[in-house]
Amino acid sequence: MKVCKFGGTSMANAEQIKKVCSIITSDPDRRIIVVSAPGKRFDKDEKITDLLIDCATKFLNNGDYESVLNVIVGRFAEIAKDLNLGNEIVNDIENNIKTRISLPCDSEEKFMDRMKAAGEDNAARLVAYYLTSLGKKARYMNPKDAGLFLSDEYGNARVLPNSYKNLAKLRNVEGIIIFPGFFGYSLSGEVVTFPRGGSDITGSILAAAVQADLYENFTDVDSVFVANPKLVKNPKPISVLTYREMRELAYAGFTVLHEETLEPVYQRGIPVNIKNTNNPTAPGTLIAPERESSECPIAGIAGDKGFCSINIHKYMMNREIGFGRKVMQVLEEEFVPFEHMPSGIDDISVIVRKKYLDDEKKSRIMERIAKELKVDSVSFEYDLGLVMVVGEGMKHTIGVAHRIAKAFADGGINIRMINQGSSEVSIMFGVSEEDVDKAIVSIYDEFFN
Ligand code: ASP
Repeated sequence: MKVCKFGGTSMANAEQIKKVCSIITSDPDRRIIVVSAPGKRFDKDEKITDLLIDCATKFLNNGDYESVLNVIVGRFAEIAKDLNLGNEIVNDIENNIKTRISLPCDSEEKFMDRMKAAGEDNAARLVAYYLTSLGKKARYMNPKDAGLFLSDEYGNARVLPNSYKNLAKLRNVEGIIIFPGFFGYSLSGEVVTFPRGGSDITGSILAAAVQADLYENFTDVDSVFVANPKLVKNPKPISVLTYREMRELAYAGFTVLHEETLEPVYQRGIPVNIKNTNNPTAPGTLIAPERESSECPIAGIAGDKGFCSINIHKYMMNREIGFGRKVMQVLEEEFVPFEHMPSGIDDISVIVRKKYLDDEKKSRIMERIAKELKVDSVSFEYDLGLVMVVGEGMKHTIGVAHRIAKAFADGGINIRMINQGSSEVSIMFGVSEEDVDKAIVSIYDEFFN
C-alpha cells in the first residue's frame, strides 16, 4: 500500500489534476492520496492558500474581501469547467468557503486557520468528484471523521498521538481515499493547520498510521539535487538519502520537503520517494533508513539566512556549574527557541533565528543575561547565515573540513563559526549572510566539479 501526496503545482489547474489522477489510477497500491491546495500555475501567479489568507485578513479588517473570494471561487470554477464537471461541485465549494466566513468565531487565529484549510479541503472534494465522474471508486475523507487530531497551536499544530490509532483504520476502507493535507482538528473540534507547506506532514502521518510500504511525495522536480539549482548550474541529482541527511538539508534550506515531514515515517522506517508529477516514470529521490556509501562523502549542501548569535563571555565560565542552564532558562522564559550552541572555555554563543526577536525582547535578554549571570560581556551578532554540509560518509573520511575550509579561503569567505554535530552527519559553518550563496557554490565546485 502506498500513500501519495501531491503538492500545489500538481493541483494548479485541470491539466495538472488530470496527470495526478492518471498517476493515481495507474497503480492499485496508490490508495490514500493527500492533496495540497492549488498552487501557482506560472511564476507570478498566486497560491490559493495565499489568496485565502488575504481574503480572511480583509474580512477581519473590514476590507473588500468579496473580490478576493470571487478570485478564489473563480480558480476552482475554472478547474471544474476544464475537467467537464458542471456546476454542482462549484456551488458546493463556494458554499463551503462562504460558510467558513459567516460562521461565528471567537478568535482571529481560529478564523484564519479555518480559512487557510479551505484550499486543501475543497481541492480534495474536487479530485474525489472528478475521479468518481471517471467511474473510479474514490471518496473525500474529512480529517475529523478520520480522527486526525492536532494540538491547538493555530498555524503551527503538531499531531496528537491518538490520531495514529484512529487513522490506522483507513487501511480497511475500500477504494481510493482523497484526504486534504495541511489541517486537522483540535480536541474541541476547531480546524487547526500545520505550518505552511504542511501537507507533506499530513502525508507522512497517514503513511505511518496505515504502515504504508512507501510514501510517495509528488512535486515538480525530477529529484532532490546536491545544491540549489538556482545557485549551481545543473547540480548533481541525488538518488538516495538517509532520513538524517534529508532532515538536516530540509532544516537548512532544501524546500522540497517540509522540515517536520520525516518524523512520523522515520519512527516506523517507511521509505519516502520524492517524484515528479510531470515526469512520473523518473525514479526520483528515495529517502530511506540507510544507504550504500558513495564515493563522495558529501550528500548535499544547504544554506539559510536570517540568524543571529548571542555571544556571551565570562572569565572562568567552565568552572561555573549550571551556567548553560541559566542562559537557556532566560531564553525559555522569553519564548525564544535556540538552534545551536557552540561553546569555548569562557564563551558560549547561542544561535537563534532573527524572526523570534524584536528590539524589546533583544534588550530584555541582554539585560537579564548581564545581570542574572553576571557575565563580563554579552552582545548580539547580526546577519549570520548558516551553511550546512551534509553526508553520512563524512564520518569515515579524513580531510572533508579541510577541503571546505580551503574552498572558503580561496573564495575569500570568512568563517565566523564552525559546529560539527556529534553524529558527524553534518558540519555547520556560520558565515555572513551575504556570503551564504557564494559559500555553497565554492563547496560544490570543490567536491563535484
Ligand atoms: N497549501 C499550504 C501552503 O501553501 C500547505 C501545502 O501546500 O502544503 O502552505
